[in-house]
Amino acid sequence: MAHSAPGLPSHDWCSVHSSADSLAPEWLVVPDDANALAPGVWPRSSVRSPDGQILLGGMTASEIAGQYGTPVMVLDEDEVRTRARSFRDAFAAATGRHGTTARVYYAGKAFLSTAIARWVTDEGLNVDVCTRGELEIALAADVDPARIGFHGNNKSRDEIERAVSVGIGTIVVDSAIEIERVAEISERLGAVQRVLVRVNSGVHAETHDFLATAHEDQKFGMPFADAVTAVARIRELASLEFLGLHCHIGSQIFGVAGFRESASRVLELHEQLRAGGEVPLLNLGGGFGIAYTSVDDPTPIEQLAAEIVDAVAEGCAQRGIPMPALAFEPGRAIVGTAGVTLYEVGTTKPVRLGSDESRLYVSVDGGMSDNARPALYGAQYSARIASRTSDVEPALVRVVGKHCESGDIVVDHEYLPGDITPGDLLAVPATGAYCASLSSNYNHVPRPAVVAVSAGASRIIVRGETIDDLLSRDAGISTKEGAR
Ligand SMILES: *Cc1c(COP(=O)(O)O)cnc(C)c1O
Repeated sequence: MAHSAPGLPSHDWCSVHSSADSLAPEWLVVPDDANALAPGVWPRSSVRSPDGQILLGGMTASEIAGQYGTPVMVLDEDEVRTRARSFRDAFAAATGRHGTTARVYYAGKAFLSTAIARWVTDEGLNVDVCTRGELEIALAADVDPARIGFHGNNKSRDEIERAVSVGIGTIVVDSAIEIERVAEISERLGAVQRVLVRVNSGVHAETHDFLATAHEDQKFGMPFADAVTAVARIRELASLEFLGLHCHIGSQIFGVAGFRESASRVLELHEQLRAGGEVPLLNLGGGFGIAYTSVDDPTPIEQLAAEIVDAVAEGCAQRGIPMPALAFEPGRAIVGTAGVTLYEVGTTKPVRLGSDESRLYVSVDGGMSDNARPALYGAQYSARIASRTSDVEPALVRVVGKHCESGDIVVDHEYLPGDITPGDLLAVPATGAYCASLSSNYNHVPRPAVVAVSAGASRIIVRGETIDDLLSRDAGISTKEGAR
C-alpha cells in the first residue's frame, strides 16, 4: 500500500515499524532532538529561550500560561500578517505577468475575530464569510463591506438582507432558489447585487491526491448544465449583476494538479458563458495546505500561485479568450501556522500493549473541545514540551484531552522526552485554523482564550469562557437579578 500521508483521515496501520516502536506509524521517525521545533510547522518567531522555554512572539510559554492560564490559543500576529502579505504578493505577481489582477479573500471560517479581520485587511486581503455571525464580526472590525464575499449553500433571508443592505461586495450563489431570493431582496432594497455562481467541477483535492469525476456527489455548487441556466436567469434580473464563476475543490492541498484540472474544466464553462455577456472574474477558491508535522512539505505559495495562474493563462490562450481577473480564498494557509495551543500536562500513564510494546498517554487540560480536528478528520499534529528542554530518551506518546471520549486525542503519535511530567507545559503547533472556530463546550468545558503575541507583548483577542458564562445559558439557574 502507498505511504499514507499525515493529515489524511485514513491511515495505513499495516505499515508500521517492526522495531521497538512498533506502535509508531511509518512516517514518524525517532527525532535526534525531541526539543527541536520543526521549521515550517511553528511560527517563524518560535525559538527556544536561553532557559529552554519556547518563545512565541517573544514571550515565553510560562509567561503566557501564567498570565492567561491553560489551555490557551496563542496567535502570532506577525506570522498571520506575513502570510497574508505573501499570498497577496504572490498572486499579484503571478496575475501581473499575464496582464490581470487577483483578489485574495481570507476565508473567515478558518478563524475569525475582529483582530484577525483587521490584520488581514491591513495587509491587503478581502474577507469571506458564510454566516450572519461571521459577517457581523467582519463588520464590527470595520471591514469595508465591498471587500466582503458571502458564501454558503443555505443563506437565510435574514442573512441575505443584512448582506445586501450593508453593500456586501459579492454573494456567491449556490442554487437556483437562492438566485430568486437574492434578486427579490436586492430589488426590494433598491440595490444591484454582484453575484458569482458556485459550480461543482467534479474535482476534489486533498494533500497529494485529487479525484476528478463527471459529478461530485456533495452539497456545494451547481453542475455545469444548471449553471448555464442559472447565469442566463441572473442576466435577466435587473437587481443582479453576474461577475463570474466560483469553484472550491478541497482543503489541505499540496500540489497544483487538482487546481489545474478544475480550472481547465471551469474555463470551458467560463468561455461558453461569454456568448451571453461579460464574465470579468474567475474565483478558484482556497484549500492551500500547511505543515502539521515535520513530514508535510507544502509547496511555497509563490510557486503555487505562478503555476495555477499560468495554467489559467494557458487555458485562456488556447481558447482565444482574455484572462479574467482571478480570486482566491486561502483560510488555513493564512492562520494555521500562526497558532500554537499551550496546555498543561495533568497526568501521564504508560499503557503496556504487549511484552515490549508500550505507549505513554499524556493527558492535557483541553482536548476535543478546543481542537476537534483529530476526532473529526483523524488529523495529525505534533507537540513539544514548552516549559523546558530535556535530554532524556524520547518516548512514544499519545497526547489526549480531558473529555469523556476515548477518541479525544490531541496528538495521536509523537516522540517526547520520556521524563514528561505533570506541570509541564505542552505546546501543539499549527492550531491557528479550524480549532478555535470549531471549538465547543463539550463536557461543559469553557472554551479557551485566544491571545495574540507580537514583539514580546501579548493581548487577549477573544476572551476565554468562564464557568459563569456556561451557567448563564442554563434557564434553570437563578441569577441574582433573575431570582425572585
Ligand atoms: C473552506 C473554504 C475555503 C478555505 O479553505 P482553506 O482550506 O482553509 O484554505 C475557501 N473557500 C471556500 C468556498 C471554502 O468553503
